[in-house]
Amino acid sequence: MTRTKPRVVLLGKQGAGKGTQAARLAEHYGIAHLSTGELFRERAAAGTAFGLEAKRYMDAGELVPDDIVVGVVEECLAPGGPLGDGFVLDGFPRTLYQARELDRVITDSPLDVAVNIDVPREIVLDRLAGRRVCEQCQRVYHVNMPPAHDWTCDTCGGRVVQRDDDTEEAIDRRLELYETETVPIIDYYRERGVLVVVDGVGEGEEVFERIVKAIDARIGCP
Ligand code: ADP
Ligand code: ZN
Repeated sequence: MTRTKPRVVLLGKQGAGKGTQAARLAEHYGIAHLSTGELFRERAAAGTAFGLEAKRYMDAGELVPDDIVVGVVEECLAPGGPLGDGFVLDGFPRTLYQARELDRVITDSPLDVAVNIDVPREIVLDRLAGRRVCEQCQRVYHVNMPPAHDWTCDTCGGRVVQRDDDTEEAIDRRLELYETETVPIIDYYRERGVLVVVDGVGEGEEVFERIVKAIDARIGCP
């Protein structure tokens, strides 16, 4: 029996739009959305020992150690687990080790597609430096495109703030780690024949349509 729901990994630099696009894809295909960054931020806000430890790495722009990340994700991805049939992963895998672990955990039914959302460094630098995020619903704004009223989210009324790791030093470190740790995954997926590269410059809606087209082509939708 074939699955109708896609299994998707989103790759791309910080600020490439993975979070925004993942949320839309989840809605479009009726699949689960897992953002490891979001998951760690929630646990940090809840003040659990695990969350506070993760926050130390995040605020410095460092990666949370592989064994911790894999331990958390494995529970969600195990066959019969909460992520179910189809899913979109945003921010995982981020190292070659994690990519191999992902393949190990989902051997029952492998990935359909890894989408690399390609955006040049100058553009992500501007997006990240000006980025402001709703604390409640995670909607993303920019200092040049703020919400209508006094940094209150247009969608949910939450507070719109700067992320603790959107400082200049942490941004530099995160982009550096993207090059050294995450870029090798692109070749890993290319060799497996599941990689597609999508131009991530332009309006969110346009980029979304490019991604859907690429996924539908991979899963055999007309
Ligand atoms: P960004 O991609 O903009 O850095 P995320 O919200 O995806 O934002 O991640 C925030 C932080 O959470 C990362 O900088 C890192 O510290 C941690 N993190 C998230 N996912 C992973 C992962 N798969 N492996 C290691 N660390 C991770
Ligand atoms: Zn909101």
